[in-house]
Amino acid sequence: MPIYEYACMNCEKVVSRYVRNVSKDEPACPECGGADIHRVMSSFAMHLSLVTKLDQLDPKYDKMIDAASPDLAFENLVKKYRLDEPIPKRDKV
Ligand SMILES: [Zn+2]
Repeated sequence: MPIYEYACMNCEKVVSRYVRNVSKDEPACPECGGADIHRVMSSFAMHLSLVTKLDQLDPKYDKMIDAASPDLAFENLVKKYRLDEPIPKRDKV
């Protein structure tokens, strides 16, 4: 029995499903029940699956990811682009 990956357009998750008969079986998303799901190519599915997995990681890993790539850490981006500071008024010259 083949397993296909589907991307749900409703909840933006990728789900794997056993499909007995592709032409007959119109699966709904097991996550949200949405019918707007599309069979995806494996590379696309793998990519989306990775994104989904990252998405489903425990939030505590966010810190680890931040620590692993400090340049991309949210706090550093805030500092870099001075998002935490008010827009500076022009000084009198
Ligand atoms: Zn869904």
